[in-house]
Amino acid sequence: MARILVIEDEPAMQTGLRDNLEIEGYEVEIAGDGTSGLESLLGHPYDLVILDVMLPRKSGYDVLREARAGGVRTPVIMLTAKGGEVDKILGLELGADDYMTKPFSLRELLARVKAVLRRSEHSTSGDGHVTIGSTLIDFPAYTAERNGKALPMTPKELEILKFLYDHRNQTVTRDRLLTEVWGYDESVSTRTVDNFILRLRQKVEADPAHPRVILTIHGAGYKLVV
Ligand code: CA
Repeated sequence: MARILVIEDEPAMQTGLRDNLEIEGYEVEIAGDGTSGLESLLGHPYDLVILDVMLPRKSGYDVLREARAGGVRTPVIMLTAKGGEVDKILGLELGADDYMTKPFSLRELLARVKAVLRRSEHSTSGDGHVTIGSTLIDFPAYTAERNGKALPMTPKELEILKFLYDHRNQTVTRDRLLTEVWGYDESVSTRTVDNFILRLRQKVEADPAHPRVILTIHGAGYKLVV
């Protein structure tokens, strides 16, 4: 079941969106202002965000900009009351996947929700297979393959690789990897992260001594490049 975060301040819209999305079988969470919406978005995985532009405390544009800067790749449908060409372009440039101008029909919105979810399923992992370096990974199945042969990988290795892949082409700090992949486990140090990265390089790099896929960003962390 897809989880949808609705960031919207008008009570009537909140209720209308929640009821209609739940009838369609989605799990819905509501945030009533920009700041709490951004917090939810940075802290939890969602499949889709419906984001109003005119919000108290922080505008929808700022929420989107800061979420993308924070590495959130969740698809976003923006709701704008303005409908001007500039707003549309700004939203799309900031990384919205679609937008709707208020007032809109709920049926139309549900159709867009379905379309965006279908698109994101295909673009993020297709049938679940992803090529990273010289290795073919099937994240849902927790399996990997290299040169046509099964490559043993531990669940933790796959989790780290998945996190780096989900934040590909961005620098991910060791601390972030620690908290996101291990949680707040004090027995694990940043040294552990480095050791896992060395092992992952053995598995995805053509030449692990000269990494071209999982790069070390000195003083910052790691970056998976695809
Ligand atoms: Ca509003």
